[in-house]
Amino acid sequence: MSKHKNIYTWRRLIQLLFTIIVVLIGIQFIRFVHSITNPDTMQFIARPAGVEAFLPISALVALKSWLANGIFDRIHPAGLVIFLAAMIVSLLWKRAFCSWICPFGTLSEGLALLGKKMFKRNFILPNWLDYPLRSLKYIILAFFVLFIFVLMDGASTYMFLQTPYNMVADIKMLDFFRNMTWVGFSVVIGLMLLSILIEHFWCRYLCPYGALLGLLGMLSPWKIRREPLSCISCERCSISCPNRIKVDKALTVRSPECTGCLDCVEQCPVSNTLRFDLPKTAFPLSPRMLALGVVALWIALVGVAKLTGYWETSISTEMYKMLIPSMDQLNHF
Ligand code: SF4
Ligand code: SF4
Repeated sequence: MSKHKNIYTWRRLIQLLFTIIVVLIGIQFIRFVHSITNPDTMQFIARPAGVEAFLPISALVALKSWLANGIFDRIHPAGLVIFLAAMIVSLLWKRAFCSWICPFGTLSEGLALLGKKMFKRNFILPNWLDYPLRSLKYIILAFFVLFIFVLMDGASTYMFLQTPYNMVADIKMLDFFRNMTWVGFSVVIGLMLLSILIEHFWCRYLCPYGALLGLLGMLSPWKIRREPLSCISCERCSISCPNRIKVDKALTVRSPECTGCLDCVEQCPVSNTLRFDLPKTAFPLSPRMLALGVVALWIALVGVAKLTGYWETSISTEMYKMLIPSMDQLNHF
């Protein structure tokens, strides 16, 4: 198998695996809500804890609460576990979470491919617009970090996690998609259209989760490293980079935009010239090794959380039945 096909296949396989898991979680969550809200339903469906992956703000509050109070959140513990797992992946392997696991990253790539098919290319914003837009995701991240880590004290974060609003945040999110307003629908369609035209529009400009993981990824020991003695300056690495990083100009790619996708490594025609490696050619990761590493780490963290009781919510079925009818009246505090 060629190097090209090897890298492409491994990443697509892992993306497919996580997409299937997310779809199954989504289906089971819809069935859970239906079983709990429909008195005629005889069969109770268990709530899939993995749905909490879609509550990143609650997870950020839970992280602050854990650090400040020493209490691990029991309302959405899986959300915090998944958030920590994404951070650990980034601390090791750049923003590999974005390019190997995240369903929004996968969807974004799919839409960009569709755009390439439709228009024979993706459009690139001029630098004067690209730079300020790229800073948007850091501004959004700074807002959340300031609000949660500076303005909220430990007690307020703990109290927020216990609010009825936070308890049913996942069901409210489902409700948002099931009863979408015209404004919500227009925003979703607008983002999808922009992602067809501009590669990784959401990830590149707006995602605060990616911004955080990118900053953590700057600490990652594994980075894209170029060997200048064998490099023939063909620029294929830079041209292939979905995040438009000038790989051919750097010895080590330190950019927070690097998602560890290995597309540049795949395109390099000279062997051992571009590697995803520790300093001094210590332990280069092949796509297969990175794929196995990402999956193994994920299984290990989720497995430990399940075995130690830090995965399932402490919210009882009775509590859900009590809260859901008045869900529309619930506010943040
Ligand atoms: S192509 Fe290379 S430099 Fe660009 S994001 Fe992927 S791994 Fe990072
Ligand atoms: S693709 Fe490889 S040989 Fe070409 S510029 Fe990049 S690192 Fe150098």
